[in-house]
Amino acid sequence: MNIDILGWIGNIGFIVGSFLIARRDIKGFYFFGLGNLLYIFVGLFTGIYSLVLISIYLLTMNIYGIVNWYGGIKKLLNKRFASYLEEVLDEDGFSRYFCGKCKSRIQGEENIKKKVCPICGIKWVRVELI
Ligand SMILES: [Zn+2]
Repeated sequence: MNIDILGWIGNIGFIVGSFLIARRDIKGFYFFGLGNLLYIFVGLFTGIYSLVLISIYLLTMNIYGIVNWYGGIKKLLNKRFASYLEEVLDEDGFSRYFCGKCKSRIQGEENIKKKVCPICGIKWVRVELI
């Protein structure tokens, strides 16, 4: 296989990535990451280790950029693996609860206290009054 084709695909990743980042679109980091990953292979196959080193550094910065975009690792993990419990007050002042992720109605004091959705299994980190 002509190794240069990886470089050209990487270039497309950089072109699309830089455009998206300029438009404040997080997908730009993924395209940049693809470009850097391909450049690592190009550098390894051609023996240009300065290219490998800078591409590893830039790939790390892409990952840092994604994490930072979401406000840090803790917020990123919460966004992926946690949700909230929606509390809706009806006209009589009674609370009804819904899972923030799957929107299922949650009933029973026990289920609410567990802080885990019995339907989709997501963890609730807070209660949000809607
Ligand atoms: Zn759920």
